Amino acid sequence: MKVVTRFAPSPTGLLHIGGARTALFNYLYAKHYNGSYLLRIEDTDKDRSTDKSLESIFEGLKWLGLIGDQPAIYQSNQIDKHKEIANKLAISDKAYYCYLSQLELETIRKQNKLQGKPFRSPWRDPYYRGERIGKPVLRIRMPDTGQTNILDLVQGNINVANQQLDDFVLMRSDDSPTYMLAVVVDDHDMGITHILRGDDHLNNAIRQTKIYEALNWQPPVFGHIPLIHGSDGAKLSKRHGAVGVEAYKNMGFYPEAVKNYLARLGWSHGNEEYFSQEQAISWFDGSSLGRSPARFDLQKLVAVNAQWLKKESFERLHTQILEYHTLQKNKKISDKFKERLKILLPHLLERNSIISELASEIDYLIYDGRPEINSEANKFLNDQSCNVLQLFSNILHELPSDATSFQIFIDDWLTKQKIKMQDLGIPLRIVLTGGKTAPSIFDLIQSLGLKEVSSRINEICN
Ligand code: GLU
Repeated sequence: MKVVTRFAPSPTGLLHIGGARTALFNYLYAKHYNGSYLLRIEDTDKDRSTDKSLESIFEGLKWLGLIGDQPAIYQSNQIDKHKEIANKLAISDKAYYCYLSQLELETIRKQNKLQGKPFRSPWRDPYYRGERIGKPVLRIRMPDTGQTNILDLVQGNINVANQQLDDFVLMRSDDSPTYMLAVVVDDHDMGITHILRGDDHLNNAIRQTKIYEALNWQPPVFGHIPLIHGSDGAKLSKRHGAVGVEAYKNMGFYPEAVKNYLARLGWSHGNEEYFSQEQAISWFDGSSLGRSPARFDLQKLVAVNAQWLKKESFERLHTQILEYHTLQKNKKISDKFKERLKILLPHLLERNSIISELASEIDYLIYDGRPEINSEANKFLNDQSCNVLQLFSNILHELPSDATSFQIFIDDWLTKQKIKMQDLGIPLRIVLTGGKTAPSIFDLIQSLGLKEVSSRINEICN
C-alpha cells in the first residue's frame, strides 16, 4: 500500500509553528515510506478564511519546502462531493434529517446532559411524527451499542462506547457540509492512508471513524501528537513570542534549521539533535513520537541555527548576509565593503547565530565614516580616551600586518606609553564599530584599512 499523508490547514490565521510541525511530520512520514505528501486548504468557513492567511500559509510552507507533491486541493471546490456522500448516507439510513427547532434542541440537550447521555434527536425514529418546519440538518445515526476503536500511532489503543457519542451534524440546514463530513470525504477522495495531527483532533478522529464505517470505507491510520507548549508549560500562544513561521523567516533563520528543530518537538531518534532532512526521512517511521507535550525553546532553536550557519559555505553565507542587509536597508553595497565583510566574517560568526544578527552588525563595515555610537558606549568616550586614540593614530602606519607581530608591537607600545590594553581597546572598538563588543582590534584594522581607521578616530576625537 502506498502511504499518502496530508497537511490540511484552515486559512484562518498565520502558519503557526505547530502547523508547520504537523506539515513536517506528515512529510517525513510519507517520504520515509516513499509515499506522497499532499496539501489541502480547508477553506469552507468563509467568514473566518482570509486571503492574507492563505498567503501566509503558502509563503511559510514554500519557505520550509513543505508545499505538497501536487497542487493544493481546496475544500471549497469539493462541496458537490460532500453533498453526494451526505445523500448516500441519508438514503442508506446511516444518517437522518432532523427538523428540531433551536428551542427543542436546547431542551433535549439539557435533559440529556443531566442524565449523562449523548445527544440523540427524536427524528432518528422513522415513526416520529414531528412537524417539518424549515430546512433540516442531516445527522449521523450513531449506533446505540458497540464500541469504536482506533489504534493511534501516538496515543495507542482508544476505545469509546458508541452510546457516548452524539448524533452529530453532517450537513447544516443551509446545505453546507460540516468539517466532520468534509474532512472524511476529502481524505478518502485523496487516498489519504495516514494522518498525523494535533491531539486536539483526537475526539474528532473517533467521530470521523464512524463516518468511515457508515460508508464502508477504510479509515486512515491516525497519529495524534500533543500540542506544542511554551517554556512555562502552557499551550504555545502569542504571549510566548513569535508563533508564526513567517517571523522566523524574517529574522533570518535557516529553513533547514527550523525544520531540524521542529522535528525534535515531540519526536526523537536516539540523542540526535542536529540532522539533515535526509536523515530525518530515513529515521521517521512513525515510532518514537512522544506522548507528552514538547516545549518550544527559542534558545534551542537559535543553537540549532548556529550549527547550520557553521555548516554553510563561506561564499553563500557572505551573499546571504549582504542580501539580507540590502533588503532591510534598501541600499546597494559596493565591492569595497563586500571585501571588508569577507575579512571579518569568520570572527563575526563566533558570536552570532542568525543571519539577521550578522546583518545588523555590519553597518560599520559597509559604510565609510563615523558609525552610530550607542549611548552605553558613548560614556567611554572622553578627553582621556581620545588622547589615547590620537596617540595610537600616530603609529598606525608602523603596525605590523600579521597577528602575532601586531600583538607584540602593541603590548610593547602600551607598556612604553603606560597605557592599559583596555584603555585603548574599548574606545578604539567604539570609534570603529559604534559599540563595545566587536571583533579584535587587529581584525577590525585588517578589515577597515588604515585610512578608514585613522579617519574614524579623527572624526570622533577632533
Ligand atoms: N483544518 C483543520 C485545522 O486547521 C485540520 C483538520 C485535520 O487535520 O483533520 O485544524
